Amino acid sequence: MNKRKRDIKKTFFVIGIIASIILGIVIVSSGAERLQSNSQKIKIVTTLFPLYDFVKNVGGNKVEVSLLLPPGVEAHSFEPKPGDIVNINEADVFIYTGKSMEPWVDSVIKGASNKKMIIIDASIGIKMIPAVFRDNDEPTGSIDPHIWLDFDNDKIIIQAIAKALSQKDPVNADFYQRNASEYQDKLSALDEEYTTGLSKCKSMEVIYGGHYAFGYLAKRYNLKYLAAQGISPDAEPTANDLIQLIDQIKKDNIQYVFYEELITPKIAEILANETNAKLLLLNAGHNITKDDFENGVSFLSIMEKNLTNLRIGLRCNR
Ligand SMILES: [Zn+2]
Repeated sequence: MNKRKRDIKKTFFVIGIIASIILGIVIVSSGAERLQSNSQKIKIVTTLFPLYDFVKNVGGNKVEVSLLLPPGVEAHSFEPKPGDIVNINEADVFIYTGKSMEPWVDSVIKGASNKKMIIIDASIGIKMIPAVFRDNDEPTGSIDPHIWLDFDNDKIIIQAIAKALSQKDPVNADFYQRNASEYQDKLSALDEEYTTGLSKCKSMEVIYGGHYAFGYLAKRYNLKYLAAQGISPDAEPTANDLIQLIDQIKKDNIQYVFYEELITPKIAEILANETNAKLLLLNAGHNITKDDFENGVSFLSIMEKNLTNLRIGLRCNR
């Protein structure tokens, strides 16, 4: 090998080393940036799907939000596992619906060592209403925990989310506030659609073959709402409860019975079979399935679909 060839080889060798060093630096630094940008994201844990979806809309790409309920799991019977409690404790912000929806939260918060965490009880500032399951029922003393089924309540929750995110990340306060306002405008538009869409219907009576979830929505749009079960899906109706509802359906010539999401609609099927009524889904959106997640189902799309079904079920004209 002559000197020239040796020099060329040496030069390539040196270039190679320099190139790998540069490449290495690039890889290491981009990794560091990635790590840095992830750690800079505000970590938020929410209990129910509507809260999760609200945070995603307000926080955009500046937050890392996780939903505590595994996909498809029924919300009222949910109890956090040790891993969930660790997750909550590591969050910058933890949002839950309220004591009546998640009675386990108190003890989890008391045991939390992360004192910097902002905790949002979404029901603060919201006028809770009592649950009245059926006609002529004495007040049960139960409070309806399904606060997210009133669009004005959602606006209050969204404001609380924007405030918490701004507190954790003041530099981007305008970003969070702008997103919150945009989402609140969408809720106002949907509220208008409900008011107009449910203003001329042959029936204003919603018979629900599920648990008592739509009290807020019914109150907002002047619907009469009768549910077969109490405020949780594991509250079994008595035979007498079902007979009363069947009589009501026949008496008022109700043609559609609504059923709830995520569980087999056994009760709604009994009511429909006994009365020749048809079935329609009315989804309270506590949680969604894995498929729904993959298909990008949102709180707004669930509520749009609910309006469509209500208009069919109540036979609305306009
Ligand atoms: Zn519920």
